[in-house]
Amino acid sequence: MVSLESLNREDFSFATRAIRTGHLRTAEGEHSEPIFNTSSYVFASAAEAAARFSGEQIGNIYSRFTNPTVRVFEERLAALESGERCVATASGMAAILAVCMGLLKSGDRIIASRSLFGSTTLLFNKYLTRFGIETIYVPLSDLTAWEAAIDSHTKLLFCETPSNPLTEMVDLRQLAEIAHRHDCVLVVDNCFCTPALQRPLELGADIVIHSATKYLDGQGRCVGGAVVGNHKLVGEEVYGVLRTAGPTLSPFNAWVFLKGLETLELRMLAHSQNAAQLAAWLNEQPAIERVYYPGLATHPQHSLIGNQQRTGGGIVAFDVRGGQAAAWKLIDATRMLSITANLGDTKTTITHPATTTHGRLTPAERAAAGIGDGLIRIAVGLEAIADIQADLVFS
Ligand SMILES: *Cc1c(COP(=O)(O)O)cnc(C)c1O
Repeated sequence: MVSLESLNREDFSFATRAIRTGHLRTAEGEHSEPIFNTSSYVFASAAEAAARFSGEQIGNIYSRFTNPTVRVFEERLAALESGERCVATASGMAAILAVCMGLLKSGDRIIASRSLFGSTTLLFNKYLTRFGIETIYVPLSDLTAWEAAIDSHTKLLFCETPSNPLTEMVDLRQLAEIAHRHDCVLVVDNCFCTPALQRPLELGADIVIHSATKYLDGQGRCVGGAVVGNHKLVGEEVYGVLRTAGPTLSPFNAWVFLKGLETLELRMLAHSQNAAQLAAWLNEQPAIERVYYPGLATHPQHSLIGNQQRTGGGIVAFDVRGGQAAAWKLIDATRMLSITANLGDTKTTITHPATTTHGRLTPAERAAAGIGDGLIRIAVGLEAIADIQADLVFS
């Protein structure tokens, strides 16, 4: 049997890479990828141990930074994102932290989109500032604002597209051009789309971040993350942080994620189809003020669909009339949907961002991010769309 590693991955389609990449079969002849639950590895001799530690010989050393199961997940995700290297991490937040620690130093600046995942904003504002790293926020889709905010200290541009929870988008090709004109690194959190729908590295971004916890797992089982990019930025800088500081992904979680990757494309298309139907239906409900979904023709960046992003994705947000009371009433009236902040699961989840995922932000920060009191986010799962709709009762 020839392993996909010995073949040119560009010769294989996305679906094939998602299923075949990374696994080097052991002498046992296993068909499914094994879980290597071992913290360390045995060397044939003292000289071999020395060669491994010095980097002269490639091979496993210690599972903080080398584990065969984690490596299969890393190679498979790198192949799907069109990246040279992937470093898996203990969570999505650990992935973001590892990028910042690997690429930034005191005095550097980040420019980030205003509408970020709540913990990301908190990481930048509360913790990175302690180490002398400042973050400036700009409206995600406003390219002029991004460029105007760049100064000689700016090293990194950071965005999510589409954003959480409002599904705002930015033109990544143009943002990458701006970043490179000013010698900055563009980092994209690709959590909402996954490489099945959008591949930022192919559009010019330098680094892709994942919360593998979401769609890469796909069934809400494990927490994990990943960073994908080139040999220099990810293979050296980010890997160095992982090796030394140790925000490591466990082999078991890596195994769950790599099995998740095998069905990623099928799932993402099915999530998108359900979400598109739900968004269209919500758009017709009088109790709803506004629906946020990239697949709707009324979405301000709808033209990026089919060009930068293959479909609208699986997340729909909407403002209900009547603020927090009306939003909580709708959520509490559901019988099937899961009231939980997680997303990217086969099970549909419903969240009130203002009091959960974005609850630790100040009211001013929430307002700046456009998170209203009546806002609800639904991460549309794979149940029958009629059952999802029937669970949303507007009174
Ligand atoms: C969940 C999430 C994260 C953080 O990932 P964890 O795995 O929970 O640490 C980062 N970005 C986005 C967009 C997310 O949804």
